[in-house]
Amino acid sequence: MKVVRLRDGKERSLLRRHPWVFEGSIAKGKADPGETVRVEAHDGRFLAWGAYSPQSAIRVRAWSFIESERIDAAFFVRRVQRAVALRARLAVDSDAVRLVHGEADGLPGLVVDRYGDTLVAQVGFAGAERWKDAIADALLAAAGAARLYERSDLGVRKLEGLPEQQRWLRGDGPTQLQMREHGWTLQVDIAQGHKTGTYLDQRDNRLPFAQAVRHFSCAEVLNCYSYTGGFTLAALAGGARQVTSVDSSAPALTLAQQHVQSNGFDATRHEAVDADVNAYLRAALEQGRRFDAIVLDPPKFAHTAAQAERAARAYKDINRLGLKLLRPGGLLFTFSCSGGIGPELFHKIVAGAGIDAGVDAAILRRMAAAADHPTTLEFPESDYLTGLALLARA
Ligand code: SAH
Repeated sequence: MKVVRLRDGKERSLLRRHPWVFEGSIAKGKADPGETVRVEAHDGRFLAWGAYSPQSAIRVRAWSFIESERIDAAFFVRRVQRAVALRARLAVDSDAVRLVHGEADGLPGLVVDRYGDTLVAQVGFAGAERWKDAIADALLAAAGAARLYERSDLGVRKLEGLPEQQRWLRGDGPTQLQMREHGWTLQVDIAQGHKTGTYLDQRDNRLPFAQAVRHFSCAEVLNCYSYTGGFTLAALAGGARQVTSVDSSAPALTLAQQHVQSNGFDATRHEAVDADVNAYLRAALEQGRRFDAIVLDPPKFAHTAAQAERAARAYKDINRLGLKLLRPGGLLFTFSCSGGIGPELFHKIVAGAGIDAGVDAAILRRMAAAADHPTTLEFPESDYLTGLALLARA
């Protein structure tokens, strides 16, 4: 068994069960990509079993903090069963569920979403890659699923020296599936769609949006960064008279249009606009347009903590424009999915946007990812999605 020995004082985060060991914390020890190592404090005390990533700044990710635990196929069966059991206890109003959420499920670098009896996995680091076959078998057995598609077309794999990969890992079948959410039926393309096909993390924020649209009688709704129209359906379900979906992905907008019709809403109440949101917001402002409710759910503006400052400006900009486009008394659901922008910083950014826009608003609700994307006590980094539901003063 290879040993990685930490520098004096660098054991603290592992003792708090945070699973990452950065390159700079290591005094000595090396291993092959994904190989299991014993991580020790400077004095030889056991800290964790982890997987080694020779090329990554996060050099080791911990599998277990229990010295007697063996990292073998049976370990992955236990971890996967534990993750699946958590979801079974949550009341998820969908047949599409995140089954494994990386570090928060004790499986660093692994994301698995379930769409009915099809699983879609993303493997983002050398440790999970090395154990991929054992994990795949454990997943199918624990979830009672028939097939598993791998969507490891991830930029982060480059940092790990791993090639991008996309294929059926177990079984095969159609890559265009149907899923159900809040009584709506949605099409998901697990091969071409974003992430594993769609954004399950926003599930629990779509229903409150529908409720707020109804409660505040919002007639005209603007859904920015709509993707395939999750919040668009919510607005229509909430009784909106006219909904505009804006996105820069034509295939996503085509699906949004289809979803409006296939879920029984009047297609004339919906307009899909293929545009850059920033440009769209500026043009709408120039034309003097106003909306009763707006959703801003942009892609990740900051990919690393270092990009947070520039991202903060971009978030402030769209929020300023969004707030200006609200009618007095209007509703804004605004989000960030950048890990480097925590809820407190996001609040500050949106507050700044409010001042610049001259809009005073009350916070109706603070939002995060749905509970099947858990954040654990030890690993706050998995809390990447943050949002505010704001009600402007009338
Ligand atoms: N709100 C969606 C998820 C949004 S994900 C949902 O509930 O499912 C972010 C979306 O922003 C993606 O669909 C992507 O195509 C789109 N996007 C990225 N950059 C954009 C830009 N500059 N202008 C418009 N859309 C953009």
